[in-house]
Amino acid sequence: MLLLSGPNIAGNEWKYIKDCLNTGWVSSVGTYVDQFEKMTAAFTRTRFGVATSSGTTALHTCLVMLGVNSFDYVITSNITFIATCNSIRYTGAEPILIDTDPQTWQMDLDLLEEFLSKDTEQRNGVCHCKNDGRRIPVIMPVHVLGNMCDMERLMMLAQKHKLIVVEDSTEALGSYYNDKHAGSFGLLGTFSYNGNKIITTGGGGMIVTDDEQLAKRAKHLTTQAKSDSFEYVHDEIGYNYRLVNISAAMGVAQMELLHGFIIRKHEIITLYKSELEGVGDISFQKITPGVRPNWWLPTILTVKQKALLELLNSNRMQSRPFWVPMNQLKMFSGNKFYHKRNCSDYVYRHCLSIPCSTNITNSQIKSVCDKIKELY
Ligand SMILES: *Cc1c(COP(=O)(O)O)cnc(C)c1O
Repeated sequence: MLLLSGPNIAGNEWKYIKDCLNTGWVSSVGTYVDQFEKMTAAFTRTRFGVATSSGTTALHTCLVMLGVNSFDYVITSNITFIATCNSIRYTGAEPILIDTDPQTWQMDLDLLEEFLSKDTEQRNGVCHCKNDGRRIPVIMPVHVLGNMCDMERLMMLAQKHKLIVVEDSTEALGSYYNDKHAGSFGLLGTFSYNGNKIITTGGGGMIVTDDEQLAKRAKHLTTQAKSDSFEYVHDEIGYNYRLVNISAAMGVAQMELLHGFIIRKHEIITLYKSELEGVGDISFQKITPGVRPNWWLPTILTVKQKALLELLNSNRMQSRPFWVPMNQLKMFSGNKFYHKRNCSDYVYRHCLSIPCSTNITNSQIKSVCDKIKELY
């Protein structure tokens, strides 16, 4: 089976994990955790990294730190992986869903601007919903597939309307907007190391920030909020959201490979484009001007989506549709979905992601392309 986006264990993973096993430092503390955090901060040019058990728990921790609660809304993208909206719901808050741009597949900033100016107002320096008076303290843009929206404009809108930005940059490790790394725009950014991401630790996540207090608080909250190094004194409700040293050891090894993985992802998309552009109605994600994406997950848009999904998967070439838009899931169908033409539905019905593990060979890519061409 040709995996959609599988792990590529090609460096010091065995060595570093063996080191954990040899020394007994396998669990919740160890030098690899510190090293992984420092490497991530350095790579993303942020001051601090705090490792977490997953991207989802990283997102949840950020919202908890900002005091988001059940009287609040959080603005996010209607097209995203469920983890974004789940992390919002864990706090009791409700997502406000903004439709997607049909070409870049990121949050449509024209719609966002319209929503903010028509339906919100500031009270005591915080954005509020005009209708019901609920707070909207946070906006959580999602860098869908490693592309980003016009971050300059998004940051300006957020500043104007007094929204704190938490980036769901879980798919965007290695993506830049105007040479600034994804996750370093907002007060807080997040990454995921699930098995299908550009690097993996088996499972894991990271919070990045330039704010020392928030970094300390994140470490505190994700380690059960223990406030004494000896006694079991805890000063608030904390979480067991830490990343274990074995996973971090793998993360350090994967970080050493990241640069090469990004180069390979660029080669993969270039090859796919040269083979498939002009075939039938196939088109690719349009990259926002100023963005240098990591091309995490090459995805094509075509009216033949259903037939292609069937053809590729039945030929052991793993291929996946886009996520069902949040407003179409029963948990969020009652939430505000701000849109004009429901582009989320269009993108959802026409997109499919194609095999792109960093260890895929060029001839395997060619065979995927040949299979796709068969259909047209
Ligand atoms: C992968 C991902 C996450 C986090 O996933 P985890 O499996 O919890 O690490 C969150 N949001 C998006 C958009 C993702 O793709």
